[in-house]
Amino acid sequence: HRERLAAAPTGPGRTADGYPVPLLANVGSGADARLAVEFGAEGVGLFRTEFLFLDRHSAPTVAEQTDVYAEVFRILGDRPVTVRTLDAGSDKPLPFLNLPAEENPALGVRGLRLRGVDEQALLDQLTAIAAAAAETGTPVAVMAPMVATAEEANYFAAHATAAGLENRGIMIEIPAAALCSDRLGAEVEFFSIGTNDLSQYLFGADRMSAALAALHDPWQPALAAAIATVVAGAEPHGVKVGVCGESASDPEFACVLVGLGVQSLSMAPRSLIAVRARLAQVTLDRCRVAAASVLAARTAHDARQAACSALGLNA
Ligand code: PEP
Ligand code: MG
Repeated sequence: HRERLAAAPTGPGRTADGYPVPLLANVGSGADARLAVEFGAEGVGLFRTEFLFLDRHSAPTVAEQTDVYAEVFRILGDRPVTVRTLDAGSDKPLPFLNLPAEENPALGVRGLRLRGVDEQALLDQLTAIAAAAAETGTPVAVMAPMVATAEEANYFAAHATAAGLENRGIMIEIPAAALCSDRLGAEVEFFSIGTNDLSQYLFGADRMSAALAALHDPWQPALAAAIATVVAGAEPHGVKVGVCGESASDPEFACVLVGLGVQSLSMAPRSLIAVRARLAQVTLDRCRVAAASVLAARTAHDARQAACSALGLNA
């Protein structure tokens, strides 16, 4: 195992024929950020800020937030960092926000919907992110979770700009956003597809339910179809598309994502090695054939087999 790691490719992500695929890390703390650097991440594609404040009972001040964001930015240095604004609610309650108790929190006030109950928390966070970016010089992008409509995307982009943040994106994790990506694309610079929640809402299957694992399988053809729709909607606007859900850490599915037109992949730092190695073994052409075969497959099982054979790998 150790030898295989030593022989594994390092450096930026690319296919065998040299097509660059930036490999980024998902982080939620300074410790994660150090791991990201250790595993050769080219940047951070998803900085989950809610984890910094899970035990807070009073709102963190702008100054306190600026300090914690700057700490993570400094670790990344001049590598780009995409910060996600608070994705509280559902599986991630934040005590200081006083979110309403809800029957179905996954379908309730979470992510950007926070603006309806505590807009100031969102605005303070944008101010702090901009201040930390200015203090460290790290190239920072900002994105909102749980965006469903063009109006919400427009709202977020306008407030990010007002805070001085020019590189603005939204997560695509609700089917409505995927279906209308051609309109949402007019509002922002990039999309980041969150396949964990996109699967949850596409299949109507709670992401925490082990009993429903088969529906969360990234090889389900409907997930690839949704991603293809997002890429097609983004293209005319020149909007960049990345994936930051767990599916990007499946080395063979990562190749399919590249074949679907996804331009960067963000994952847990420890997953970077296997994905980097797999991409280095396949050409962009083979990735595209694999993607087409997944879109045409009848089942998740068939999709995986067809993709692996298109990639020249044993399934
Ligand atoms: C996702 O939903 O795929 C995602 C990356 O965000 P989170 O897992 O934090 O909801
Ligand atoms: Mg999510």
